[in-house]
Amino acid sequence: MPGSLFFGHCLLTDGWAREVRVTIAEGRIAEVETGATPGPGDDRHGCALPGIPNLHSHAFQRGMAGLAERRGPSNDSFWTWREIMYRFVDRMAPEDVRAIATLAYVEMLEAGFTRVGEFHYLHHDRNGQRFADIAAMSGAVCEAAADSGIGLTLLPVLYSYAGFGARPPQTAQARFILDIDGYARLLEGAQRHARALPDAVVGVAPHSLRAVSPEQQRDLAGLSRGRPVHIHIAEQVREVEDCVAWSGRRPVEWLLDNAEVDGRWCLVHATHMTKAETAAMGRSGAVAGLCPITEANLGDGLFPVETFLEAGGRYGVGSDSNVLIDCAEELRLLEYGQRLTRRARNVMARGGGRSTGADLYGDALAGGAAALGVTGGIAVGLSADIVSLDLTHPALVHRSGDAITDSFVFAAGRSAIDCVWRHGDKLVSRGRHRIRDHAVRDYNRVLETLIA
Ligand code: ZN
Repeated sequence: MPGSLFFGHCLLTDGWAREVRVTIAEGRIAEVETGATPGPGDDRHGCALPGIPNLHSHAFQRGMAGLAERRGPSNDSFWTWREIMYRFVDRMAPEDVRAIATLAYVEMLEAGFTRVGEFHYLHHDRNGQRFADIAAMSGAVCEAAADSGIGLTLLPVLYSYAGFGARPPQTAQARFILDIDGYARLLEGAQRHARALPDAVVGVAPHSLRAVSPEQQRDLAGLSRGRPVHIHIAEQVREVEDCVAWSGRRPVEWLLDNAEVDGRWCLVHATHMTKAETAAMGRSGAVAGLCPITEANLGDGLFPVETFLEAGGRYGVGSDSNVLIDCAEELRLLEYGQRLTRRARNVMARGGGRSTGADLYGDALAGGAAALGVTGGIAVGLSADIVSLDLTHPALVHRSGDAITDSFVFAAGRSAIDCVWRHGDKLVSRGRHRIRDHAVRDYNRVLETLIA
């Protein structure tokens, strides 16, 4: 039975429109009428934005959010954070991953993210042995997506080595490790699990240049035909130095020289690049996977936005470590990082007179969707992934057009999110996901055993 939503203000693919009636059939937008009159059974709301894709997540890390904020005996860094993450992951079973990921996805939907790119590298049991179903952990991620209703682009990760030059993995990495044949089997299994979801996409993900050899990169190209390809790259200065010591080239430079990087690719972080690398990456069509909250939390550094945008670069945002899940805050922090270092305002706006909030939102929508192998937006034929805002929120009253997006991103944030529809299903009302209580109970039970 098709249903219709009616919005006083609606951000469509070609801009803002008033009095918009959106008819949904089988999860997709069947009709969009502007200047319309509401029908008697319409679900009526003040304002609609398209849901934003979250292009980079490690859902299980949500369980350790806030547990790595105590200063250690020496300088804390990404690498000391990673030790804590390895200890946390040590005891996790598939049902634990399912419960933690379900709550993380519930929180993402409540925060305005309607699809997640799950960069999934925890594959094996506690002893590093393969499960009878090699893709059991991927299956747990798919179940979490089904339970929460979020759109899933599953990115099973190939992780083989501890460092450049095929250094053997550490004991703490045993649960991630696969060779290329095992990876091909994992990919098949992941696809089998993902088929249970309405519009899942399965991509491929070499973990990083340090964890995958050049030979494996070439083998992956054969497996990745037509799929999204995601890789962590140039997040840390030490990683850049190690790459130079190994190959004489910097990571992004090496990748662009040795792989056919194009619009299917998402380069996650890409924080440390020269101007030439940044421009070349922008021209390649690859999407920059920016994770401003996590990059700030881990002390990674700031992405070189100006050169990248000048070269026509595309970007999207991801919640990565999930230390805090908030779409508006990712966008706000992306802009604020630039403002603080350049002592300037409205840096991410794409020209004079343009709205920063609207350009951030539009760029993250288009880039995020491209990176996750889908098309985003409110338009006929697309999945009905829609976020409604409460226009009676003090930060949003008397706004229209781009002032709504600016005020949402900079002044209101997730507290202004009212309802969220995903593939036509209304999952969030008054800011709460309909399975929130249940998801919190399961999550608490799992955390009790993992943190004890
Ligand atoms: Zn990551």
